[in-house]
Amino acid sequence: MAMEGMVRTVLGDIAPADLGWCQCHEHVFLEKGRSFELHKALLMDDYEKSQAELFLYKNAGGSALVDAQPGGGGRMAERMVRAAKATGLHLIASAGFHKTVFYYDDSFLFRESEEQLADRFIREIEEGMLSSQMDGERRLPEKAGILKVAVDEGGLHRDATYEKLFHAAAATVKATGVSILAHFEKNSDAFEVLRFFEDAGIPANRLLACHLDRTRHDLGYHRELAAAGAYLEYDTINRLKYVSNEQEIALIQGMLEAGYQDQLLFSLDTTNERLASYGAPMGLDFILKHFSGMLEQAGVGKEILRHVMVENAARAIAIQAV
Ligand SMILES: [Zn+2]
Repeated sequence: MAMEGMVRTVLGDIAPADLGWCQCHEHVFLEKGRSFELHKALLMDDYEKSQAELFLYKNAGGSALVDAQPGGGGRMAERMVRAAKATGLHLIASAGFHKTVFYYDDSFLFRESEEQLADRFIREIEEGMLSSQMDGERRLPEKAGILKVAVDEGGLHRDATYEKLFHAAAATVKATGVSILAHFEKNSDAFEVLRFFEDAGIPANRLLACHLDRTRHDLGYHRELAAAGAYLEYDTINRLKYVSNEQEIALIQGMLEAGYQDQLLFSLDTTNERLASYGAPMGLDFILKHFSGMLEQAGVGKEILRHVMVENAARAIAIQAV
């Protein structure tokens, strides 16, 4: 198991107290591949621009972020390492998998057995990340610190590939103690996923349920999931085609009123259409610079925001024996 209680960044393990302001689901680097073929916004392969975005974030008060692009699925490991050194930010890399539609037919995802997949994910966390697709299979000394999983429409029993991927994911969390960054689709059943991991002996507080503020914008459902012990990771902030910021804030207030201030996480789930250095009208600093003020006007003060961004994030992503 990785070192319990620590946060595993690409430049080494750090104490949770040293993490600082952390957005737990971002995409700052993404290489050209299948994702780009499907959505032109899914390409952030200009090192200088991505680094400039990270400095923008740091200058606004950012300290850490999770890059949610998993290994072999467009993650740019070498660039993350280089940018972490250049900016001084704590960058956390993802092992694991995204939706299978984002992979070419000859990908490891389809080829490897459940055991091979678990071995691949565990070694990325315990030994070192594999280089990005373009550079082949070279292993870096720098490690991934979280496990990305993606729940497609139809859930985790959608097909045999998802079945083996989720079983490999459970084995990875049990072996390493990392938490699970879960992508959910429209009307995904988060409880199916929660129960699956619980049946495997993994506590609910290892699950960071992402995107439910856009895929299942339903306060009652979110409260139930929080009551079960999961983290609700809200990353539809300023994605106005899905949800207005007023709706987003109302959801946050509803969760706070019900006492779930310890189980919220906020992020932006960026693409090149949401990164200022790539020409977008907003950037990684949006929560720090703009959303914080909107929240304050709505009565959600800076202390609560810091609690979510700093303390909750550190607790949610720290290594924990299961
Ligand atoms: Zn994402």
